[in-house]
Amino acid sequence: MANGKIGVTTENIFPIIKKFLYSDHEIFLREVISNAVDATQKLKALASVNEFTGELGDLTIRIALDETAKTITISDSGIGMTEEEIEKYINQIAFSGAEEFMAKYKTDNGIIGHFGLGFYSAFMVSKKVEIVTHSFKEGATALRWSCDGSPDYTIEPAEREARGTDIILHIDDDSIEFAEKTRIEGLLKKYCRYLTIPIAFGKEQDWKDGKYEDTDKDQIINNPNPIWSLKPADLKEEDYMEFYHELYPMAEDALFSIHLNVDYPFNLTGILYFPKLKNNLEVQKNRIQLYCRQVYVTDNVEGIVPEFLTLLHGVIDSPDIPLNVSRSYLQSDSNVKKISSHITKKVADRLQEIFKNDRPQFEQKWDDLKIFMEYGMLSDEKFYERAEKFFLFKNTDGKYFTIEEYATLIKPTQEDKNKKLVYLYTTNREQQFTYIEKAQNKGYDVLMMDGQLDAHFVNQMESKLPDARFVRVDSDVVERLIPKEDLAETKLTKEQQEELRPVFVCHAPEKTNFTVMFENLSETDAPVLITQSEFMRRMKDMAQMGGG
Ligand code: ADP
Ligand code: MG
Repeated sequence: MANGKIGVTTENIFPIIKKFLYSDHEIFLREVISNAVDATQKLKALASVNEFTGELGDLTIRIALDETAKTITISDSGIGMTEEEIEKYINQIAFSGAEEFMAKYKTDNGIIGHFGLGFYSAFMVSKKVEIVTHSFKEGATALRWSCDGSPDYTIEPAEREARGTDIILHIDDDSIEFAEKTRIEGLLKKYCRYLTIPIAFGKEQDWKDGKYEDTDKDQIINNPNPIWSLKPADLKEEDYMEFYHELYPMAEDALFSIHLNVDYPFNLTGILYFPKLKNNLEVQKNRIQLYCRQVYVTDNVEGIVPEFLTLLHGVIDSPDIPLNVSRSYLQSDSNVKKISSHITKKVADRLQEIFKNDRPQFEQKWDDLKIFMEYGMLSDEKFYERAEKFFLFKNTDGKYFTIEEYATLIKPTQEDKNKKLVYLYTTNREQQFTYIEKAQNKGYDVLMMDGQLDAHFVNQMESKLPDARFVRVDSDVVERLIPKEDLAETKLTKEQQEELRPVFVCHAPEKTNFTVMFENLSETDAPVLITQSEFMRRMKDMAQMGGG
């Protein structure tokens, strides 16, 4: 029997672990289980090069909860550890890493929540941790390592015939919530759902003699082959939608999916979805789940995917994203920047492909897609360049045009004296109905611009298209901008007009910037029109939006 001291210079490492990792202490289970997965994968790797020639057998990792004893046991059939390996991998970490670790944690608090502490994170929730392990190596015997959170540990011989490791966590009184079945189930579902080795928690149950009874069949909680790890060629559209609903059970069908599969200059797989968005954009942001080799890491992908794509849903899996570091580091990491611009390109390519190959489908989904497109085009210059080829304008007749097609359509009728194209638009079809009708009667086309981002987008289009001028359909400049000969004369005399004008002006929301018109209206038009200055209205809108 060997007794040892963990050479931590400060009294005790464990109070520090508990204190500084408190906000994220639930990750302990992920850490301990992913070590079990690693141990199993190592064994498989050794078998594949004939360094392990025994039977692999059943490699299922089993999680057992003893609600009375308040213990969680994680058992694997992986490589196990010899005494030297325990010394090196378990004891040394605390020994050599402690000082550096503590220095780090005191100076950079920000990194803690995302720092995988590995094995020692078990002490965030445990008053005692035991390892019972039996190495696969010739002649190895079973050992028990035990540590109660003081600087001491013990190693002694143990009983374990089979190769592999049990990690036994004695849950601390102040973490007793983790000794509950539903809590464990929740954690397994969140962190371990797609681990690469089957994970069993309890047994499947059968309805027998009026009650549920355990069968002898393991209840497997994970899917080791999620569809993002499969080849796109082997998958159908239904598979993508099914997976979408597995990830977001409450969501409506997504609009499109994009399968990411990159192996150069970095490794990244994943599936992104364009969701159907509801009005409140903020709450729907950052729903993409980030994995590292199928281990769940976070659903905060800020800094990893471009800002406008944080509205997408789905999963991204990459061993190359440095996960154990702070967010500010992540944002400056050159790999992460490459990943981000690659994702932008992929998303644009996929949309362009659908536009080219299936324009009816693209148009049919456009109303929902538009907000992503505008958000992307407003916030990302690269995306704008790609997207301008398939951004669609929709007019009041519900017809869709590319930017180029639309310019061609309105050129003959909507060019002003300065050879600028006048894009008429409405922000509210019901309220501006009279104006729309009037414009249409004159043979003009009117665009729908009633989306959440349209006001900004109109400004952007004006700066991007040098020959364009956007004018709301109820603006006073419409008549002056687009010359037309066949205008109807008003039946009112000049005097009558002057007399009537104040009557209408006093109904306008403000006295200024409104013009009352009786002339230039055709037979079918309303007898009078009140219009507002486009410039003044936009100034006001921008001021209301907080400077735009
Ligand atoms: P990391 O997983 O990043 O190496 P950990 O602190 O999680 O760091 O684990 C430390 C080491 O302990 C592992 O690298 C491994 O060698 C050993 N280890 C932990 N759990 C097991 C296990 N279940 N089976 C075999 N070895 C293990
Ligand atoms: Mg680990």
